[in-house]
Amino acid sequence: MKSTYRTIADIQEAMKNKKVSVPELAQEYIIKADKWDQSLHAFLSVSDERLMDAVKIQKCLDGRNGFHSPLAGIPYGLKDNISTLNMRTTCASKMLKDYRPPYSATAAERLKRAGALLFGKLNMDEFAMGATTETSYFGITKNPWNLSHVPGGSSGGSAAAVAAEEIFFALGSDTGGSIRQPAAYCGITGLKPTYGTVSRYGLVAFSSSFDQIGPMARSAEDCALVLNAIAGPDKRDMTLFPKNSSFQIDPDFNISDYKLGYIPESDLENVQTAISEVYQDTAKVFEHLHMQISCCSLPLSNLYIPIYYILSSAEASANLARYNGIRYGFQAETEENFEELMTTSRSLGFGNEVKRRILLGTFVLSEVYYHAYYFKAQMLRRKIIRAYEDLFEKVDLLLLPTTFTTAPKLGTTIQNPVDMYRSDLFTVAANLAGLPAISFPCGFDEKGLPIGLQLMAARGMDHLLLNAVHIFQKNTDYHSMIAKGMQR
Ligand code: GLN
Repeated sequence: MKSTYRTIADIQEAMKNKKVSVPELAQEYIIKADKWDQSLHAFLSVSDERLMDAVKIQKCLDGRNGFHSPLAGIPYGLKDNISTLNMRTTCASKMLKDYRPPYSATAAERLKRAGALLFGKLNMDEFAMGATTETSYFGITKNPWNLSHVPGGSSGGSAAAVAAEEIFFALGSDTGGSIRQPAAYCGITGLKPTYGTVSRYGLVAFSSSFDQIGPMARSAEDCALVLNAIAGPDKRDMTLFPKNSSFQIDPDFNISDYKLGYIPESDLENVQTAISEVYQDTAKVFEHLHMQISCCSLPLSNLYIPIYYILSSAEASANLARYNGIRYGFQAETEENFEELMTTSRSLGFGNEVKRRILLGTFVLSEVYYHAYYFKAQMLRRKIIRAYEDLFEKVDLLLLPTTFTTAPKLGTTIQNPVDMYRSDLFTVAANLAGLPAISFPCGFDEKGLPIGLQLMAARGMDHLLLNAVHIFQKNTDYHSMIAKGMQR
């Protein structure tokens, strides 16, 4: 079955004109999602109430009661580290395999209030640590463009489900690239908002000073609609900006008012040839749109990977200390003492990648090494923040690749963790500096796999990113290509 509705904007129009009702749309997508997910495995759990909820939403719309929301009746999914009341939230870990939170995340709550239709919870790397979704305890997810390739990670289930049109949009979380990298591998648009834009209340913490929830959809316009619904102050997250902002697409937006930073080819070593070609072409599109282009280099780029992995692992080791089999999480069966119970529960409950991060984090926080690693990394993080403040004095937007390569084959990346860490070079700077960044489809490689590039901007300039990509998408059609790995 092939839906004619690609984006939320399309379907809204059709609903307004009564061409399709919420239950009809839900029915079509339930059939599609249930069928395609047999080969993709994007969902870890699906809601049994999808159709019933659709009927309720339709009633609300018919009764009106002043209820108006652009997301009403739109099928969507949540990464499985975003808490949902009484609905399994596993973080793709054995540790939380039966966990049903007693509350919902603010972002989930807001989507519910906006009338969006929750289809289910999506696969991810265990506790969001990884870049392929292969560290999930519940098995791998495949890339809808080619089923023998990974969808990326850690929000791989979210990206795959959106790309395969099982849902219209998803929420992911991005600590070091986990929204943007899978968005690039799956040919969709994904935004990591400025740190402090979306409440982290109810997001299971990986690294609290980096984590940010954001939208993944098939266009920048759709991302804007979703971000508008989930952003804004929340007294349960003290790191949020107090001021309210709007992320609407602005019909009067004039891209030629802005300056684009461009990285010369010599600075993009080891990037797959097809990606650097697409990079040049994309810069040309922006040039044709009358943007002024200025050459820049990535400031302090040799620091990103070590600093990110030292700090994020340190924070992870503290955040994950609560899963000890007593207060939270999987409990091993052992007759021994408390210490034995905790050790066995943690050894059996966590997978290898998570254990590696806990060990690294504990090491850099230990009394002897604290100054040499953790403290030094904190100082250098400040330097990176300042370097980006300087850069965004000179340009408004920075164009850079999202990844070095297109989606790798299943089973290839996971074998070498250090190579996997290195592959995060282009995404982690936005998290280190708390800046917004968006990945959007810009072309294809010789195998037909999608290529995504990123735009980054100064703190709080999320609306600029969304508007710039919207203009790009009005002038190109990479974002409207249909994932061809699925049998339709
Ligand atoms: N690949 C990065 C990591 O493994 C990104 C994780 C993320 O953004 N959640 O830490």
